[in-house]
Amino acid sequence: MDEIKINVTRSSMPPLEEYIEEIKPLWKSRWLSNHGEVAQKLEAELKERLDVVDICTFVNGHMALEVAIQSLSLPQGAEIITTPYTHISTTHAITRNGLTPVFVDIEPVHYTLEPARIEEAVTEKTAAIVATHVYGFPCDVERIEGIAKKYGLVVIYDEAHAFSVKYKGIGIGNFGDYSMFSCHATKVFHTIEGGLITCKPEHASEMRRIRQIANFGNVSEDDISYVGPNAKMNEFAAAMGICNLRHLDEMIALRRAADTRYCERLMDVPGIHVPRPSAETDWNYIYFPVVFDGVRFNRDAVKAKLDAHGIYARKYFYPLTNMAHCYAPQYANADLPVAREVSQNVLTLPMFSDLTPEMVDEICDVILKEE
Ligand SMILES: *Cc1c(COP(=O)(O)O)cnc(C)c1O
Repeated sequence: MDEIKINVTRSSMPPLEEYIEEIKPLWKSRWLSNHGEVAQKLEAELKERLDVVDICTFVNGHMALEVAIQSLSLPQGAEIITTPYTHISTTHAITRNGLTPVFVDIEPVHYTLEPARIEEAVTEKTAAIVATHVYGFPCDVERIEGIAKKYGLVVIYDEAHAFSVKYKGIGIGNFGDYSMFSCHATKVFHTIEGGLITCKPEHASEMRRIRQIANFGNVSEDDISYVGPNAKMNEFAAAMGICNLRHLDEMIALRRAADTRYCERLMDVPGIHVPRPSAETDWNYIYFPVVFDGVRFNRDAVKAKLDAHGIYARKYFYPLTNMAHCYAPQYANADLPVAREVSQNVLTLPMFSDLTPEMVDEICDVILKEE
């Protein structure tokens, strides 16, 4: 592609003066990381916003997920049932912990793990389910909880896409044993780079261990009990989060307006399917995925047309994570017909808070133009 005119995403920025106000005290305190005052303030505000009992801030979403999985102390080689229709981070977080991913297929409506396939995949080695609320569409959290109870499995949700989402009026971070949110610059809420772990109320006491692992496994000044990484959020990142949180509702409202315009233009077009969240979901409008039928519209041809107009859409998620070069030799023949089909036909269109209805029209005009 030559020059990008409309990118797939664009980070939202708070007013510069607000950020400067937030970081000013750091010149006096000289406390720039290690769970300082700003990170603690952000954690308190996020607890309110996400309606969860506890929250731990991280350097990024990936390390948050890795540490949450590490905190389970599972035996090496234990099997983790997971989705291939996700960011590579989800799969890496499993394998980098020495655990074995078992890829199961997604369901065809919201592209989240199909509970029936999860149950079929359980063996005596299965220890956990790591599932993604892809595009912020909640997994079937009730059926997954039922399966987890029945077989004694831990459930961790990758909620990188689901910041601020509610399911049946409940903050999405309350489902599953642990949840990871990404606060990367490209997500709905960001701290430049950052991540969060939340847990369901029963596990509140485990959060201390998660914090200790994330700080090199330091339990006290003289006691290092875990082989942990450095995964702490720094104070400048936390300050960005505090500012962005103040403007989050405006940002989501702007995304909703862009989403509405896209729906008006694309929802009824034969050959284009627009997946939508369920009626029980308070959504965050994080992405605008569309799935082409491969007949009237060909995904790669549409992408090439958009590219030629300086519009960058992403094949998100293609390839499936089990097909990545580092996993294909072991996992390429997993039985994943639905995931494969969606992955070959999906495109996420540009979506960010200052995407105007005029820009949405420009994008849709290109997609719908007869060649
Ligand atoms: C972005 C993302 C991650 C990784 O989060 P980072 O904050 O970028 O490390 C993990 N899983 C999914 C589904 C993501 O989209």
